[in-house]
Amino acid sequence: MSEITVYPARTIVTMDPAQPEVEAVAVRDGKVLAAGSADECASWGPHEIDRTFAEHVLVPGMIEAHAHTLEGAFSLIPYVGWFDRHRVDGGTSPGIRTYEALLDRLREIDAETAGSPEPIVVGGFDPIYFTTEKRLTRDHLDRVSTDRPIFVFHASAHLATVNSAMLERHDITREATTPGVARDANGEPNGELQEMPAIALARSGLRVILRMLNDPRAVEALGQLCANTGITMLCDLGSSGLTRPDDQHVLHDVVNRDDYPARLLQRHLHALPPGSTDWADAADLLLQLAANDTDKLRTVGLKLVLDGSIQGFTAMMGWPGYYTGTDHGQWMVPPDQLVAIARPFHERGINIHAHCNGDLTIDAWIDTVEQLVIQHPWLDHRHTVQHCQLTSAAQYRRMAKLGMCANIFANHLWYWGDQHHDITVGPERARRMEAAATAEREGVSFSLHSDANVTPLGHLHTMWCAVNRVTPSGRVLGEHERITAHSALRAVTLGSAHQMHLDDEFGTIECGKAADFTVLEDDPLTVDPMAIRDIGVWGTVVGGRPFEAARRG
Ligand SMILES: [Zn+2]
Repeated sequence: MSEITVYPARTIVTMDPAQPEVEAVAVRDGKVLAAGSADECASWGPHEIDRTFAEHVLVPGMIEAHAHTLEGAFSLIPYVGWFDRHRVDGGTSPGIRTYEALLDRLREIDAETAGSPEPIVVGGFDPIYFTTEKRLTRDHLDRVSTDRPIFVFHASAHLATVNSAMLERHDITREATTPGVARDANGEPNGELQEMPAIALARSGLRVILRMLNDPRAVEALGQLCANTGITMLCDLGSSGLTRPDDQHVLHDVVNRDDYPARLLQRHLHALPPGSTDWADAADLLLQLAANDTDKLRTVGLKLVLDGSIQGFTAMMGWPGYYTGTDHGQWMVPPDQLVAIARPFHERGINIHAHCNGDLTIDAWIDTVEQLVIQHPWLDHRHTVQHCQLTSAAQYRRMAKLGMCANIFANHLWYWGDQHHDITVGPERARRMEAAATAEREGVSFSLHSDANVTPLGHLHTMWCAVNRVTPSGRVLGEHERITAHSALRAVTLGSAHQMHLDDEFGTIECGKAADFTVLEDDPLTVDPMAIRDIGVWGTVVGGRPFEAARRG
């Protein structure tokens, strides 16, 4: 029989309603053997007592049900976003708040990498925060270099801004016919490239990004970021298994190592396999991918992307539309095709999560799930609305009836809350964005997410957003949609596990479940709610194995 380790802790928050707090947990075979008093844990037989966490707080392993492996990839290139951002080494990259600071940073990188044949490629830039500056163009970037190409990739991943040297290298001129090449008043390309066909013209810049996607170092970086932020399991919401099944080996090689610090789940982006025109082939391929599941790397379902983003004015909004700005709302999948695409997956018992930001999109996805259930009864499908930003109470009531789940983009309240209030949707609708309290009142099982790399990974922050709903300007954006710390912790543990059909294995600390714990310096249920995001993270335990957060210096 293998060994039993008993971990006493200052507090163990179990999320098991039968015994919400215990003083020790016994682990065997990577699973929880017992949670209870120290004596009860010891009663299972010969054991070792490990006091590493004696002064710490254990909570169930936090599960990020919507992030992207890009979070790891982007840690490999310099960061130029507005907000401070954590680094793999445990340090912080400071936010960049002025164009001068941006240009200085680019000059530094140019000097540090002088002589390299590669262009300068940076990520994380978001123009929405620079309200007092003119739009970033090649003219700004030309002040850094006129001979070395520069590629500034935006946080949204929908835009890039490049300098004249990059335009010249790839012959992007006023004659360019590709849509999305933005122009100045004279019709010359101004350096902004909108959406992938235009961005792809700047091949040497995009190549640096694409190379990182399949780089084992990016997967390793993601794992360390999970340990640093207390995430034990992360779902990549947009894996490419249906179009590039051969690339799966990179993930298998890295994630299945014993010393890889997190479990990685994959939800594959909807796409027809090469050469096929039948969605049933895609559904069958997804099942084949799932047949290669291991304890640490699993396929959990399908991802549909139905519209754009609210801050990009590309989400599909119902009446009366956006508050200010130009509506560029676009369907990524025509709504009348949704049932036909989703049905082969639904029929095979594949859980489907759909990216829906605008309220029209949420209606379209709810209508689709209703049709799927009528055509092929499956009562426990747990199909989910991802982002769920403007879901109304009426929509939540329909979702509850249909057995749907919600994954709410709580981090928006902090990162774009003021912009939603002032610019995109206006005060009233901004107060009911990310309406976790309404989801809870109407009986919809929900989680919270970061969408990392869109916002930084870390569930203490997403919990803090849902609990406090405070924006950078200091306003409380919708006090009646605040939830308790307990509800927020439940959302990022059991709520995440439930919407992926994994709640029998994960999400609480109780006998029989995986020994996955988040190890904290303080108890998120008893600290001042405004202090939740500042709680220190010791690290994690995944399958009974401790992984310490990186600490710089
Ligand atoms: Zn996403």
